[in-house]
Amino acid sequence: MNNLKILFAASEAAPIAKVGGLADVIGALPKALAKLNLDIRVIIPFYGAIDRSQYLIKLVKQNITVGTETVNLWQTNLPDSAVPVYLVEHRLFKGKEIYGDSRDVKKFIFFSRALLESAKAIDFAPDVIHLNDWHTAIVPELLKTNPFFSRAKTLLTIHNLASQGIIGSKNLLADGILNANLINTVSPTYAREILTKEFGAGLEKILIKRRRQLYGILNGIDTNYYNPQTDKLIAYNYRAATLKNKTLNKLALQKQLGWPAAEKIALVSLVSRLVWQKGLELIIPLLGGAGVGQAQFVFLGTGEKKYEDQLKQLAKKFPKQISAQIKFDETLAHQVYAGSDIFLAPSRFEPCGLTQLIAMRYGAVPLVRATGGLADTVAPLQKGGRGVSTGFTFKDFAALAFHKTLAKALDFYCNHPAGWRQLQANGMKGDFSWHKSARQYLRLYQKLTNPEIFAKM
Ligand code: ADP
Repeated sequence: MNNLKILFAASEAAPIAKVGGLADVIGALPKALAKLNLDIRVIIPFYGAIDRSQYLIKLVKQNITVGTETVNLWQTNLPDSAVPVYLVEHRLFKGKEIYGDSRDVKKFIFFSRALLESAKAIDFAPDVIHLNDWHTAIVPELLKTNPFFSRAKTLLTIHNLASQGIIGSKNLLADGILNANLINTVSPTYAREILTKEFGAGLEKILIKRRRQLYGILNGIDTNYYNPQTDKLIAYNYRAATLKNKTLNKLALQKQLGWPAAEKIALVSLVSRLVWQKGLELIIPLLGGAGVGQAQFVFLGTGEKKYEDQLKQLAKKFPKQISAQIKFDETLAHQVYAGSDIFLAPSRFEPCGLTQLIAMRYGAVPLVRATGGLADTVAPLQKGGRGVSTGFTFKDFAALAFHKTLAKALDFYCNHPAGWRQLQANGMKGDFSWHKSARQYLRLYQKLTNPEIFAKM
């Protein structure tokens, strides 16, 4: 049954080309799947933004015909693995940014056609084509007229329903949902939520139509990469039993941000794309209005100018307590996870969310809105911090609910140090590896390729 051939198609793959969490998934899940004896290969566009000097990239095939155009196919591997990553080279992908171009939809329709022609050109006939988000969601439709892929089944993973790839009357994600053999999203709760009007982003009706083929599989993180015991990007390595060294990271971070070193003051953080989804409306007015209290807040992110400006304003108002780091900075992100006590993720919706998982791995206690994957991964504090609780949660997307929960977390941090250490330890001991999820994906591949099981679905 194993040794299945899987073509994994996406728009990003960490660390080669990363904008957000999608890249983390594509950079890690295929490695976990490869350990299950699958012949799995990733394919992404060869963006102008990819740093060629960082990776060993070799040319595999030149002048592959895609309609009236041609592409070149290059190959590297996911770092520290034998998983091939194919890079499709064409002038459409040469721009500096991965997204944001007015030609995005056309660009990814072309990529979808090109990835099929590329697989064909190297004679890789996959059993399953695993598609990710709207960028490659048109592939099931394209396959219908391509005999080389007569055996191929498709799985579409929805990482974010909010981006749909719309051009004229065509909605690429909707087409993918209708045409893929199976569909999944990245947490069980989000898989249920998207069947409702509130979370369905206009696609709830077609999702309901396909609910029997819709699964929820929780994301993991690359636990080798995100490992406070070995992470080279942080000043001091540590584990649950040596949390004193986490404090040294906090002091180093405070120094780096130009703040007074203060071991006892709670350091609260957020690392995120600064977009509507992430719930900044709950944080910014609170800090600007009620004030900051005794805590320190560091925000690392880029995104909508409105949020960037508001955070910069706050930092100006409270220079010793608020820092707005408006940039994408992988190293600083690790230092923030390692240096902070509380990590915020008050999202309006969250398909899975990786930042809360990374935070827990680094002993930063997450404070999250109980939605989507955040609800599935953060266990709210029970009395005294006993049991397996790992953080703080609130339900209503409302200023008061957030405020109360933050106050509760700060109070617990200040007044219950032993309970706090337990919360940290619980999070640090959690299993956020891809291993379990990879087995669930394998099961879906098996369903797809085993007609007997598939017929019963
Ligand atoms: P999303 O996919 O919606 O962006 P996730 O929580 O799934 O959110 O993943 C976000 C990923 O991007 C995490 O690895 C996080 O650390 C990283 N990230 C987000 N913003 C930044 C930034 N400004 N600098 C460095 N890393 C960032």
